[in-house]
Amino acid sequence: MSLPPFDQRDGYIWFNGSLVPWRDAKLHVLSHGLHYGSCVFEGERAYGGAIFKSQEHSSRFRKSAEILDFEVPYSTDHLDQAKAETVKANGLINCYVRPVAWRGSEMMAVAAQNSTINVAIAVWDWPSMFDMATKMKGIKLDIAEYCRPDPRTSPSMAKAAGLYMICTISKHRAERRGFADALMYDWQGRVAECTGANVFFVADGALHTPIADCFLDGITRRTVIDLATRRGIKVVERRIMPEELKDFSECFICGTGAEVTPVAQIGDLYNFTPGSVSQILIEDYDHEVHNSK
Ligand code: PMP
Repeated sequence: MSLPPFDQRDGYIWFNGSLVPWRDAKLHVLSHGLHYGSCVFEGERAYGGAIFKSQEHSSRFRKSAEILDFEVPYSTDHLDQAKAETVKANGLINCYVRPVAWRGSEMMAVAAQNSTINVAIAVWDWPSMFDMATKMKGIKLDIAEYCRPDPRTSPSMAKAAGLYMICTISKHRAERRGFADALMYDWQGRVAECTGANVFFVADGALHTPIADCFLDGITRRTVIDLATRRGIKVVERRIMPEELKDFSECFICGTGAEVTPVAQIGDLYNFTPGSVSQILIEDYDHEVHNSK
């Protein structure tokens, strides 16, 4: 049974300061955020009723807006409270949480200094993608035609809606070709990340991951680095060239949505066998999200 479209569901959405019925959370077609991409968002998950690293997400949300030259008109504490209130109002325990902020309708031109900043928070049920047995089979990644842009050409450190344009195109192409997602290189041809998740590799028991200097330094990425370090697994953040992919035994992607998901294949050339390092980190991540405030 397919679910109704997102605008035809029931529940409550937090909209500019208060909860409103889900179907009433609307914006006008003449909104700067829609036409000019002045829009930032977050993706979070609640586990057992508590949002994992809520504060970090709220800070990143405010920071993303600042990078796009606007200010989210709510403090991180206010956002944390609003997110918790929205989860509760919708009667959800385990769910996805989507804060979004955008410039409104006062000005419809490139410059929009005086536009109102709108903020909404929606939550919905989104179970973890796979069980352990399915996860350990690993997903297949295509190699994207688009690359992560030079930070001098885009606000790479913001979780900005506009940056997802190349991600959607790349993921669509990957899906049409039978892959689950696409690995993106960066503007210098180095391995960067997937369309909505960061990437890690294993060689000789150590983790290797690209330096996050032109793409999102994911909160899950940092959590994985922390969990691996606590386990005594060495973590190397470095430049990784595509030719090196053949030297790694395991590979996994990670993000709020994907959690920790092993990869079995990249393009037509590189194969990996999901193994013990991936499994330990899947389990440790699962434990962490269920046991931290
Ligand atoms: N990169 C991109 C492009 C993403 O969309 C995401 C998901 N937000 C990530 C990385 C992972 O970030 P996080 O772990 O903070 O969810």
